[in-house]
Amino acid sequence: MAHNTVDPRRVELLLDRPDTEGPVVYWMSRDQRVRHNWALLFARFRAQSMRQPAAVVFTLAPSFAGASPAHYRFMLTGLREVEKDLEKLGIPFFLLFGEPAETLPGFLDEIGAGTLVTDYSPLNISRRWKSAVSQSIVIRFFEVDAHNIVPCRTASGKQEFAARTFRPKITALLGDFLTPFPENNLRQASFPHAPPDWIRAFDSVAGGSGSLPDAWPESGEKAAGARLGTFLANGLRNYADKRNDPNAGTVSHLSPYLHFGQISAQECALCALEADVPATSRQAFHEELIVRRELSDNYCRYNRHYDSYAGIPAWARESLEKHALDARYHLYGESEFAAALTHDGLWNAAQRELLATGTIHGYMRMYWAKKILEWSASPEEAFNTAVALNDRYALDGRDPNGYVGVAWSIGGVHDRPWFERPVFGKVRYMNAAGCARKFDVKSYIRRFSS
Ligand SMILES: Cc1cc2nc3c(=O)[nH]c(=O)nc-3n(C[C@H](O)[C@H](O)[C@H](O)COP(=O)(O)OP(=O)(O)OC[C@H]3O[C@@H](n4cnc5c(N)ncnc54)[C@H](O)[C@@H]3O)c2cc1C
Repeated sequence: MAHNTVDPRRVELLLDRPDTEGPVVYWMSRDQRVRHNWALLFARFRAQSMRQPAAVVFTLAPSFAGASPAHYRFMLTGLREVEKDLEKLGIPFFLLFGEPAETLPGFLDEIGAGTLVTDYSPLNISRRWKSAVSQSIVIRFFEVDAHNIVPCRTASGKQEFAARTFRPKITALLGDFLTPFPENNLRQASFPHAPPDWIRAFDSVAGGSGSLPDAWPESGEKAAGARLGTFLANGLRNYADKRNDPNAGTVSHLSPYLHFGQISAQECALCALEADVPATSRQAFHEELIVRRELSDNYCRYNRHYDSYAGIPAWARESLEKHALDARYHLYGESEFAAALTHDGLWNAAQRELLATGTIHGYMRMYWAKKILEWSASPEEAFNTAVALNDRYALDGRDPNGYVGVAWSIGGVHDRPWFERPVFGKVRYMNAAGCARKFDVKSYIRRFSS
């Protein structure tokens, strides 16, 4: 591939209009970073070839799938860094307030934009935004998959059944796509523009510009890079053997950065390739980061009901419904789960980890969701509770991985039928004894005891 192009399989033309002169505007949404960003690279290459300036715009919508003010604060802190880094390249950063379809078309007219570029997300809200914007603009509009290593629509044209059906498709394409990024550090001549109103931004959605919760990671592209460095130096080596032990400190904690697009999965995967670690650890990390993560985008792209009980496979729904009237020995509603008020110290510790740190260790996330199924009045209520809590409290929530994590745990998505048992039917069961076989449960509970 030529050095200053983006693989055409990464790019989809959302609105075909004749080329027009004027700035090439990248509407940044899911991929909030300057480096290793195929959508920004595409906008810059196009701007350079058309001898036009590039610009970046972010539309700050008042609500996004239950995100909390603290989530917005995390995001805005990262975007402030994006603005500064773009400034070094002479690229202006604009911040608009409101729904994209109400603000973006007017802005594009105002600056006389010639082309619009955006990044890719399979989530329904993003599709609605893009379709509404397409109906109100008159310039060419491209979408570039800057999130997946293998572009989602190239990896597969249908909803995949399981990781085992998806893995060979991804593996066959990795040679084409798991390649180093071109650098594009040329500074362009800037054009005059008003700076973003960060005070208004923090006040309107983030409850002011106060600090982030103590146990949360630092936000931004630099912090993300530092986290990756620490993981490569300390965690990755033991990833194959210890990733299911929440006390081992082996996992990467990259998910909030990947969710907000503050780091590129492709860059993480490339760095892991170069790390001096056992091949089994590298392979296990690639399995999660590439196959499992991109399988989540596949599910959300091809299953419009990805965030609801209606999306789960028929075998799981039939089996769960057959057991809908089974006795539940403990019953909780969303508010008791949210406040970590169950009878189970291990479950409460997981919920407290979520409340304090914004994530739960991956192994405990499965336990967390499966017990919500066991202790809710119905499987559908359990599904809704798990999605609501994950979206409300998880820093990496409101993400395809979150919807698929819940759908896997409660609805058997990407899994197979297991032995039938009460409440769970044929959906895979999990219990505290299983956790105790994997790690020191008491020590985990102590870490999140209050
Ligand atoms: C009920 C439930 C809810 C979940 N909610 C979320 C969520 O809101 N956001 C989120 O990003 N992940 C979610 N996951 C998937 C997974 O648990 C997290 O991605 C992982 O724990 C994040 O921690 P880490 O970055 O240290 O992961 P690592 O183990 O270091 O893995 C590296 C990266 O690989 C990806 N990955 C790891 N495990 C999975 C997986 N099982 N499925 C898909 N991708 C994976 C993630 O992007 C992760 O950051 C959920 C899983 C379950 C069972």
